[in-house]
Amino acid sequence: MNRERTYLDHNASAPLRPEALAAMTAALEVVGNASSVHAEGRRARALIEEAREEVAALVNARPSEIVFTSGATESNNWVVGAGWDTVLVAGIEHDSVLAPAVFSATRCIELAVSPAGQVAVEAADQMLAEAGRRGRALICVQIANNETGVLQPVAEIATGARSAGVSFHTDAVQAVGRIPVDFANLGVDFMSLSSHKLGGPKGVGALVIRDGLDLPPMLRGGGQERRRRAGTENVAAIAGFGAAAAAARRELCRAARLGELRDRVEQGVARLTPQAVVLGAGAPRLPNTSCIALPKAAAALTVIKMDLAGVAIGAGSACSSGKLGVSHVLAAMGVAPALAEAAVRVSLGWNSEGRDVDAFLQAWDAMARGLRFNETASPAAAPARAGQATHMTAGE
Ligand code: PMP
Repeated sequence: MNRERTYLDHNASAPLRPEALAAMTAALEVVGNASSVHAEGRRARALIEEAREEVAALVNARPSEIVFTSGATESNNWVVGAGWDTVLVAGIEHDSVLAPAVFSATRCIELAVSPAGQVAVEAADQMLAEAGRRGRALICVQIANNETGVLQPVAEIATGARSAGVSFHTDAVQAVGRIPVDFANLGVDFMSLSSHKLGGPKGVGALVIRDGLDLPPMLRGGGQERRRRAGTENVAAIAGFGAAAAAARRELCRAARLGELRDRVEQGVARLTPQAVVLGAGAPRLPNTSCIALPKAAAALTVIKMDLAGVAIGAGSACSSGKLGVSHVLAAMGVAPALAEAAVRVSLGWNSEGRDVDAFLQAWDAMARGLRFNETASPAAAPARAGQATHMTAGE
C-alpha cells in the first residue's frame, strides 16, 4: 500500500491483505476444475473447501452452510428475491437489500429506525406477528450500517421473528471481521458476507444458509455449491476470501485498538471543529466507523479536499450508485438534509495505525482553516448548496 496516502475508507473496500494475495496467486496456478475427479481437479476442490472452512469459522457457521457467491449484492438479491409474500426491511438497509425487496416482494414494509439509527424491537415485533399471519415472510435487518457503523439488535428481533414464523436475513457485510459475528447463536436463517470488506478480493462473497432450509437456487445448471449456485467456481477469489477470513479471525482481538483509533479521530475532530456532529453516536457502533458532519461543508468538497491532502475518506452524504441526493440511511434516521449533505465517513481497518489518524487530523485541520478563511473572506462563497452532493463511493 502506498504509504504516502492515508486510506480511511475500509467500509467502501479494504486493502487486500498480503495473505489473500498470496493465496490467490497460488490458486491461479491450479489448473483443474473443482468438479473433476483427477488430481488437478481435487487440488482446486481442496482450495475451495479449505476456504469454506475458514469463512465458516469466522462467523461460527458450519461449512455446509456457506454458499460462495459473487459478493454480498448477489447474496442479498438471492435471498430477498426468493418469492416472499411480505418482506420487512429497515430503511437503513443497503440498496442491494432494498431494491430487490421493492422489486420482487408482493408487499414490502419499511421498519422505522430511531434518530440514533436503530430499529425499534417492539415495533418490529408487532409487524412480524402481522406479516407471519399473511403467508411467507422475510425480515431483513443488517448487523451494522455501512455509513454510520450503528449496530442493530439483531438477536432480539430474531427472537420475535422465530415466534412469528418469519424468516430472518441479516446483512453482516460491515460487521464481519470487525466484531465477533456468531451465525449459530444469532438465531437468523440467512446471512450475507462480502470478501473485500475484510481484506479479501472484490467480486466474491457468500450467503450463509442455515442447514435444513430450502431456498431456490441462485443459478441453475451444474451441481456446484450443492446445486444452489451453478457455475465453475472462481477458485482464486474464493481462496483469497478464505485467507482473508482466517487473518481477520486471528485479528479480531484488534477491535479494541480500532476503537481507540476511531475515538482519537472523533476527539481530534471535536477539538479542531467543535461544530462537527458525529451521526449515530447515540447508539452502539462498530469500532471502526465514524460518520462526521461538519455543518455547511458539502461532503463532496470535503472528500475532494481531503483527497488532495492525501487522505481517502468516504462521503456519507449521497446515496449509492451515483445518484444525487442525501443518503437514505441518514434520511431514515431523520437527519436534516442540510446536515446529511455534510456527512463524511471515516472507516478504519486491518492496516490502520496511529499515523493514519495523525495524517487525517492534519488534513482536517487544514480543510477547516480553509473553510473559516473562505467564510471570513466571502460569506457567500462557503455555504453548501442543497442537492450539490455527488457520490464519492459510487456503486458501493
Ligand atoms: N451490504 C452492505 C452493508 C455493504 O456495505 C455492501 C458494500 N458496500 C454490500 C452489501 C454489497 O457488497 P458487495 O460489494 O460484495 O456486492
